Amino acid sequence: MKIAVIGVGYVGLVSGVCLAEVGHDVTCVDLDAQKIDKLNQNIVPIFEPGLSEMVATNRETGRLHFTTDLEDALKGAEAAFIAVGTPSRERDGHADLSYIYAAAKSIAEKAAKPLVIINKSTVPVGTGDEVEEIVKSTRPDLQFDIVSNPEFLREGAAIKDFMAPDRIVVGVESEHAQKVLAEIYAPFAQKNYPILYVNRRTSELTKYAANSFLALKLAYINEVAELCEVVGADIKGVSKGIGLDPRIGEKFLNAGPGYGGSCFPKDTLALVRTAQDHERPLRLIEMIVSINEYRKRAMSRKIAQMCENEVKGKKIAILGLTFKPNTDDMREAPSISIIQGLQDMGAEIYAYDPEGMENAKHILKDVTFCDSALACIDQADAMVIVTEWDEFRDLPFAEIKKKMRKPVLVDLRNLYDGQPLKAEGFDYQCVGRPLET
Ligand code: NAD
Repeated sequence: MKIAVIGVGYVGLVSGVCLAEVGHDVTCVDLDAQKIDKLNQNIVPIFEPGLSEMVATNRETGRLHFTTDLEDALKGAEAAFIAVGTPSRERDGHADLSYIYAAAKSIAEKAAKPLVIINKSTVPVGTGDEVEEIVKSTRPDLQFDIVSNPEFLREGAAIKDFMAPDRIVVGVESEHAQKVLAEIYAPFAQKNYPILYVNRRTSELTKYAANSFLALKLAYINEVAELCEVVGADIKGVSKGIGLDPRIGEKFLNAGPGYGGSCFPKDTLALVRTAQDHERPLRLIEMIVSINEYRKRAMSRKIAQMCENEVKGKKIAILGLTFKPNTDDMREAPSISIIQGLQDMGAEIYAYDPEGMENAKHILKDVTFCDSALACIDQADAMVIVTEWDEFRDLPFAEIKKKMRKPVLVDLRNLYDGQPLKAEGFDYQCVGRPLET
């Protein structure tokens, strides 16, 4: 099928490439001409494992195209995916839908034939109705359907998640739309991946309910981790012990510095606002939002504690900046709050991340960026693991100890076994294990 994808960010690009991979003829459009130029030279503007290769091979087959010209992309298309950003509105935490509305209006203006418009972005329940209104008022003559098809991929494993999904959720209001979506996802149905057809509002809410539930698991295990530290329990054992119960499940039970990223913070907040507007407040999710905010900032105090409660003028080495490994995405990363907290206490920050430094440079101020973990810890008063990149798992600790001014290691991802590090002379602290005095 000929398909247009509007927006080539993490979701649009991965979706477009994967839909081409399963045999569709896909044209991806973005307003950002630089991104499109790069993609037309097989240069992928984001870091996502395996994506570059797939862009190149699918362009070669002639099934994947990139353009800034929406009209061109819509020529002959039966379906158009909207995959533009829905960030938090700064004033009140609601989802900012201005990109969605603008995209819907442009699609309506340029559409040449009956079109199924599929919203892949994460949007509050009822947005499909508003998009329908926009398209109808812009082009009263156009035959169209509006579908909700939220995306559940995870950055860092995006291709695998798209190609082998746990489920595909499709929110439709007409038989025709369902037929078109069934055709788009036929290659996935053939492989028995579950496709769930529901109404549009159910589909829209499912995405927020899913992300908020995952955020809840993280906020919960982080609070239990804090209790572990003062009662002599070990969070790894607790996580394992509860996770083996299939009603709970083992995933998403790793204690850490608080969740971040381009989805959980904004989606939990947007769901809270939606629920309040409908006078059905989701108090549990309100609490999770505030627990997580508290947690991120509290990590800077934990680091200060390890530096004898004084970081003024001290050099703190931050290893890992992105909100998780295998991505260059810095949106709402815990490192931002942690670094700000430390800077507020007067610390000098040196930082290293394998993929995130270009993006980090736009967000973090007064930070010295280093070329490697070893350069970062040179003469440091403390080293802090914020993101669990694989390359930090096996560092040369004997050399590190010699290079640091003080061998203080704060492991916010429980990456290491503390005993050998302590034997080597490190003052080591992680999360959710008894505090050393
Ligand atoms: P992004 O910010 O990386 O990309 C959005 C892209 O849309 C940008 O390249 C921007 O230039 C482009 N754009 C904006 N308006 C446009 C227009 N009118 N025409 C053409 N291009 C336009 O966003 P993202 O991370 O891919 O997220 C997109 C949506 O998917 C969001 O709603 C997000 O919540 C959701 N989502 C994201 C993830 C994730 O892991 N990033 C996972 C699931 C769902």
